[in-house]
Amino acid sequence: MEKLKVLFATSEAVPFAKTGGLADVAGSLPAALAELGVDVRVIMPKYRSVKVSGSETTVGRNVHPVRITKDSASKMDISNRVKVWFVENADYYDRKELYGDKFGDYADNLDRFSFFSRQVLERCIKENFKPDIIHCNDWHTALVPVYLNTVYKYDPFFAKTRTLFTIHNIAYQGLFAKEEFPKMGLDWALFHIHYFEFYGKVNLMKAGIVYADAVSTVSPSYAKEIVTPEFGCGLEGVLQTRASNLYGILNGIDYGIWDPATDTGISRNYSAESPDDKYINKEALQKELGLKVDSDIPMIGMISRLADQKGMDLLAKIIGDILNKKIQLVILGTGDRRYHVLLEKMARAHPKNASMNLKFNMVPAQKIYAGADMFLIPSKYEPCGLSQMICFKYGTVPIVRRTGGLKDSVHEFDTKTKKGSGFTFAEYKPEAFFSAIKKALSAYQGKDQWRVLVKNVMALDFSWEVSAKEYVRLYSKIERLPAGTPTP
Ligand code: ADP
Repeated sequence: MEKLKVLFATSEAVPFAKTGGLADVAGSLPAALAELGVDVRVIMPKYRSVKVSGSETTVGRNVHPVRITKDSASKMDISNRVKVWFVENADYYDRKELYGDKFGDYADNLDRFSFFSRQVLERCIKENFKPDIIHCNDWHTALVPVYLNTVYKYDPFFAKTRTLFTIHNIAYQGLFAKEEFPKMGLDWALFHIHYFEFYGKVNLMKAGIVYADAVSTVSPSYAKEIVTPEFGCGLEGVLQTRASNLYGILNGIDYGIWDPATDTGISRNYSAESPDDKYINKEALQKELGLKVDSDIPMIGMISRLADQKGMDLLAKIIGDILNKKIQLVILGTGDRRYHVLLEKMARAHPKNASMNLKFNMVPAQKIYAGADMFLIPSKYEPCGLSQMICFKYGTVPIVRRTGGLKDSVHEFDTKTKKGSGFTFAEYKPEAFFSAIKKALSAYQGKDQWRVLVKNVMALDFSWEVSAKEYVRLYSKIERLPAGTPTP
């Protein structure tokens, strides 16, 4: 039987460019698909951060971002390698950042990503790669299904090709002024409420949802949430029209990257067989950050975009109370200016037990995952969330709000049965968040039960194996939309 051919189109992928979880997914799901026998390619823009010569390379599992040195990406010896195609355009992509700078989003983002989406299809033709599925991700690639059903509608090259559009975060929709519509080279008739038009603006994600043969998102709970006004960010109506083709598949993580047994960024490797070695990492981190070296003091970690989505407004309300407890709080993050200001202020007020690291950097992230005892994820909404899965592998107990993928992956620890994997709260209120933290701190006092909890979480398996199989099943059942294009 011929292999299923999949092209994975993404605006970012580890180890080449990363601003968030999409890059982790794009850097690991394709390799897991390849292991299942899928003939998969990845395509992404060639940003300045891509240190590869030419417009193609291969990557595989066990590609640890910190092990990538300039020019080494193409020389690594890794099995199940996946071909990565880069779309080159120095004017568009050879920039310091991916989507914008301190002044905001780049003004030509619609040019940059409509060009990219056209190139996704052109590259298939150039390479004579006829995909069964083009797997598109977020608004940056939402135009691929649109072009396929308009410009390339009668092109026999794509006669068999179907599209899956995966929503990693519905809040980022790719909104542009109406005046920019002509940049995409499409008929003005598509600036219509059934296609691109969204409160007078051009909405790429909306068009992607309408035109893709199937739509998915990154957890079963988020798939249910986004069809409601509370979570749909205005797209709940259009998603309801796609309900029969809307799926939720939980992300996995790549244990080739996230594994304390092999992680070269931490002080001492450890595993479920040697969980106590985790505390060597904790003490090393305390020392490095200038905190009191004492493994009995509970260390609370947080690695996050500093944005309201991530529950920063909740944290802001209780951070003083948290820091008044006998704990150490270590935060790594970048994002909204006001949260930078707040965290810097907190670090100055609590030098003994607060360490605020306001940057985006892999190595400190690994050290915090390894060193912290517990970890905060109080998200307002969370499509999937990867941090809780990374925490599990590192024996770090997550304290999360029960929403989206967090609800699907973290289960309340029961001090009686000793079952469960974290501490949770439902209401988006500071008091609820604080009481979940207090539950965790109280459980930490019972050393034996904490040991059981750490053992529980380290035994969990959130590798890609299961989810990659679900994607293969989904790819196989996607049918082309009946008329090729949806009708108003
Ligand atoms: P997001 O909504 O930001 O994509 P996810 O939980 O899906 O959230 O993924 C976030 C990823 O980014 C995780 O791998 C996390 O460790 C990483 N991350 C977030 N902030 C930072 C930072 N400041 N430095 C390093 N890694 C970070």
